[in-house]
Amino acid sequence: MPLVYVLISGANPGGAFAANERDGAGLINRQAFNTFADRTFESARDKSQKSAIFKVEIDDYNDLADRFGQTAADNVVARTGERLVATMRDNDAVAHSGDYKFSVCLAPVRQLDLELCIQMAGRIQTALEEPVSIDGTAVYVTTSLGFCQLNQVITKSSKDWGEAAETALREAHNHGPSAIRAYSDEMKRKTEIRAELREEVSNALEKGHIRPWFQPQISTDTGRVTGFEALARWHHPDRGMISPADFLPAIEQADMLERLAEVMMFQALTAVKAWDSAGVNVPQVGVNFAGPELKNPKLVEKVQWELDRFELTPARLAVEVLETVVASAPDDVISRNINGLGQLGCRVDLDDFGTGHASIASIRRFSVSRIKIDRSFVMKADRDPEQQRMISAILTMAERLGIETLAEGVESAGEHALLAQLGCDHVQGFGIGKPMPFEDTIEWIKKHNSKLQDMPSIFDNRTG
Ligand code: C2E
Ligand code: CA
Ligand code: CA
Repeated sequence: MPLVYVLISGANPGGAFAANERDGAGLINRQAFNTFADRTFESARDKSQKSAIFKVEIDDYNDLADRFGQTAADNVVARTGERLVATMRDNDAVAHSGDYKFSVCLAPVRQLDLELCIQMAGRIQTALEEPVSIDGTAVYVTTSLGFCQLNQVITKSSKDWGEAAETALREAHNHGPSAIRAYSDEMKRKTEIRAELREEVSNALEKGHIRPWFQPQISTDTGRVTGFEALARWHHPDRGMISPADFLPAIEQADMLERLAEVMMFQALTAVKAWDSAGVNVPQVGVNFAGPELKNPKLVEKVQWELDRFELTPARLAVEVLETVVASAPDDVISRNINGLGQLGCRVDLDDFGTGHASIASIRRFSVSRIKIDRSFVMKADRDPEQQRMISAILTMAERLGIETLAEGVESAGEHALLAQLGCDHVQGFGIGKPMPFEDTIEWIKKHNSKLQDMPSIFDNRTG
C-alpha cells in the first residue's frame, strides 16, 4: 500500500530510538513507547499534525498454548512482534505491551484519516495472520485490532489516548476473531453502558428480566415446525430490549454464563410443556451452551434432573454447541459433558457450522445429531454458485455421516427453495419467522399450519 507510505511523512518527535531502547526484534521498551506517545501527543496538537495509536492482540492465545505448547506460543508472539516492526515505518513506535499484545504509535503526519487508518489496520492484520511455521507445521493465528486517531479523543494526556485505543481493541475482541474497530465516542458510551450492565446482570437474571425468545425451525420436506431455538433477550426496565450481542459480554465478565444457561433451559422446558398442553406439536427446543456452561462436571446430572422434573424425554432438548468449542474441546469436562448429554438422549446441535474447524472425528466423537450451517454460507445462496457448492459439500458430508442438517439465517423464499432442493433437512431464519416471545408462538404455529393447509401443492410433490 504505497499510498500509506507517501502520506505518512513527518519527523519522529523523539528522534531515532536509542539502541538500548530497542530489543533484538526492533521493539522499543514500554518506557520509550510512553515517552514517544507523550511527545507525539504534544507535537501533533501544536502543529495540527495527525497520529493514531494501534493496539493489536493475538486471538485465542491460550488455546494456542494449549494446543502447541508454551514454547511454540512464545515463538508465535516473537514472530508477530518482528512482523509488526517490519510492517511499520522506522520512526513509528512499536512495543510489546502485554503477553500477546502490541502497541503502535504513529509518528505525526500531516494527512491521516479514518480510511487510511483502516487500510493500515488491514495491512497489519494481513501481515500478522500469515501462518507461522513451528517445527515444520503451519500455525494459523488471527488478530484483533483496535485503534484511535488522536483527533478522535478529547483528552489532556496521551494516557487517555492509549486507553481509547485499548477500548477499541476490546470492542474488536468482542466481535472477533480477526476484527478491526476504530474508537468512537459512541464506543465509549457503550463501554460505560456495559460496565453498568455488568453490575445489573445478576439481578436481572434472578428477577426474570432475561428471558428466551423463540425462533421457529421447520422441515423443508413437510413445512411443519420441527423445533424452536431459545434466544436470550433482556427486557431492561429503563433501556428497553437488549440483544445478546450487547449483554453477553457483561454476563461473561460477571462469570454468570452458567446461570444464564440454567435460566434459559428452565424457561425453554417450561415452553415445551406449555406447547404440549396447548396441543401444538413442537418436537424439540434448542438451548445455547457456550464454553463455560459446559465446564460444570455435574451438568449432565443437572439436565437429567430438570428433564425429570418436567417429565420430558431428553430428545425434547437440543443442546446447541458451537463448532469452535467442539473443534478445540481441550477441556476433558467439556468433552465428557457433550458426550454425556448425547448419551442421555439429548440432541446435540453443532452451531455456526463452517466457522470453526471441527474434524470429522470430533463430529463423530461428540455424537452430533445435527449441524447448523452458518448464516454466512446461506446468504444469497440462491444467486451464488460458490455458496451452493459449499452448502452441497456440507450436506454431502452430513449425509454420509448420517447427521441431520439445518440452515441458519434463511431470509428469502429463494434461499429456502434452494436449500430444500439441495436436500437440507431444516431451515431457520427471518424468512420463516423472527424470534418471538413465548406468548406469540402458539398463534404463530397455528397460522403457519393453516398456511400449509392452504397451499399443499408446494410440499405434495416432495412428500408424495
Ligand atoms: P446463534 O446461536 O447463531 O443464533 C442465531 C442468531 O441469528 C440470533 O441472533 C437470531 O436472531 C439471528 N437470526 C436468525 N435468523 C436470522 C436471519 O434470517 N437473518 C439474520 N441476519 N439473523 C438471523 P441473537 O438472538 O441476537 O443471538 C445472537 C447470538 O447470541 C446467538 O447466535 C448465540 O450465539 C448467542 N446467544 C443467544 N442466546 C444465548 C443464550 O441463552 N446463551 C448463550 N450462551 N448464547 C446465546
Ligand atoms: Ca444457536
Ligand atoms: Ca448459529
